[in-house]
Amino acid sequence: MKRKGILVVVSGFSGAGKGTLLRGLLEAHREQYRLSISATTRAPRTGEEYGREYFFVSKEEFGQMIEQDALIEYACYVGNYYGTPKDYVVEQMEAGKDVILEIEIQGALKVKERFPDTLLLFVTPPTAAKLENRLRGRGTETDEVIRDRLRRAVEEAKYMDQYDYILVNDDLDVCVKEMHELIQAQHLRTSKNRALIAEIREELCCL
Ligand code: ADP
Ligand code: 5GP
Repeated sequence: MKRKGILVVVSGFSGAGKGTLLRGLLEAHREQYRLSISATTRAPRTGEEYGREYFFVSKEEFGQMIEQDALIEYACYVGNYYGTPKDYVVEQMEAGKDVILEIEIQGALKVKERFPDTLLLFVTPPTAAKLENRLRGRGTETDEVIRDRLRRAVEEAKYMDQYDYILVNDDLDVCVKEMHELIQAQHLRTSKNRALIAEIREELCCL
């Protein structure tokens, strides 16, 4: 029986280590996972490439994607729009890959509403002080943007208990392992195995 992929949402405060963790997960299990690439109206950071980190688009292009219903969800985050293109996610899940969306909270809750089997994971550093250190240490944002993102984290923390699991990113390797195990356990959920249940029931009746 062909196994469909799991849809996984990974959210967490900016600087919590989501990108770093997902790179680790994909390096360790490249065949099993696919990372959805979002569209955004944010400008690329140094080193970021179109089609690798994001599809960087204009506000007009983003508006067209909304009109054409090409996005599973979208949200505005600190002044820029971000959205998840639908076709890639659907194709990869059909092909049996577990698809990961690294998106913020408003988007995560919209995805869960649309696809109730979605696994929602929230990544947090062990302490708020470590969050600030990581965000500053990354060196990719101005002081003002860092302050905005830390303020936004206060709001995001209000929604942490709507997630299925909280992953504490202290030791990176431990956290990558925990993430992999949680996702793979999701394949065993009753709701993902309806066809198997029906088949076994039928077979039992024929014995
Ligand atoms: P996010 O994608 O959540 O915004 P990043 O993956 O960019 O976060 O990580 C923010 C910074 O924290 C980066 O400089 C990264 O190297 C560092 N970092 C990530 N995970 C850890 C960890 N477990 N321990 C120490 N530093 C980490
Ligand atoms: P960044 O600018 O740091 O790359 O991302 C800012 C925030 O936008 C992060 O919290 C990230 O998870 C979120 N994000 C990235 N892509 C999407 C998306 O497609 N949809 C939504 N809702 N949020 C996204």
